[in-house]
Amino acid sequence: MSLRTRADAERDERERLAPWAEKSGDSRGRLHPEPEHAYRTAFARDRDRIVHARAFRRLEYKTQVFVFHEGDHYRNRLTHTIEGSQIARTLARALRLNEDLAEAVVLAHDLGHTPFGHAGERVLDELLADEGGFDHNRQTLRIVDWLEERYAEFRGLNLTWETREGILKHGCDWEHPVPVPERGASPSLEAQVADHADEIAYLNHDLDDGLRSGLLDWRQLAAVPLWAEAHDALPPAARDSGERVLRAEVIRALMDRLVTELASESARVVTAAGVREPDAVRRAPEPLIRFPRETADLQRGLKEFLYAELYSHPRVLEVSRRAEETLGDLYRAYRAGRAALPGHVLARFPQEGEARAIADYIAGMTDRFALAEHEKL
Ligand code: MG
Repeated sequence: MSLRTRADAERDERERLAPWAEKSGDSRGRLHPEPEHAYRTAFARDRDRIVHARAFRRLEYKTQVFVFHEGDHYRNRLTHTIEGSQIARTLARALRLNEDLAEAVVLAHDLGHTPFGHAGERVLDELLADEGGFDHNRQTLRIVDWLEERYAEFRGLNLTWETREGILKHGCDWEHPVPVPERGASPSLEAQVADHADEIAYLNHDLDDGLRSGLLDWRQLAAVPLWAEAHDALPPAARDSGERVLRAEVIRALMDRLVTELASESARVVTAAGVREPDAVRRAPEPLIRFPRETADLQRGLKEFLYAELYSHPRVLEVSRRAEETLGDLYRAYRAGRAALPGHVLARFPQEGEARAIADYIAGMTDRFALAEHEKL
């Protein structure tokens, strides 16, 4: 038997995927041209490069909602990312889109998060107000394009244009060390799938973690229509199971409903839009991956509930407040020279500027490393 070559894989994509799916053989390429791989496609290679990046390994010790010492079963950024990539693959496969590309985008999407989630992002954004601010999507692109050092020939991971387009969520009005992909009205369908997969993943696992932690309770959820409908549709045996199994049953049903309705509606919308090729997706004024209106409203209801009851819970806010303090202290101490910076950060001062080099260093920290550094001050 001979190995399945990259040319075979590219031909498979052309035969198997929808006309509006991205084909790795048609990629706009990489910033630094490289010879193609013998048997991996360009997007499969992107995905693999992301998994092998240092920033990817650090996701394990970065907070999603619950800080690592609160318990071993809560999601962290790594398990969130893995759950999101599973959902993205399911959606991409059902819609005959390019699974490798959708997966690569999800695996990279949270690399730019600071320790302690959005609290860390807020404090860095304030501290860098005069230096162009801080945003986790921007930082993700900075990591894959610049901060990862794994190749002798160039900086960054040298990902394809399509993966970088998917990572760059909201356009870009900042200084970036290399040219940024020019965005159309919408990104590829694979990038849109990745975006939804992220949201479906966090809404569901945060419900799960919220209940497990006791910050949310069952009675509150009965008032959330999406939850109540999933609960009431369960067979009696499931409804009578203990709390732990029931929680899993409801969340599984809920996730399956969201994924299934998103896939069916998107298939309908893409067909109705008369899209024939990937670039037609980019010209479409509205994203074509979308829920039926009623489901979108239900999902929004769940999101609003989580913002009000979980993300704004006094215990979560207290952790955020301490996180802001910790990172703020670290930044000020590094700027004032009161704490030691490693040589590799100091070496970057001339090119990146002191503030950005320090922000990159802090943003890259895991929660526990940041706490340990703070302890040393
Ligand atoms: Mg995410």
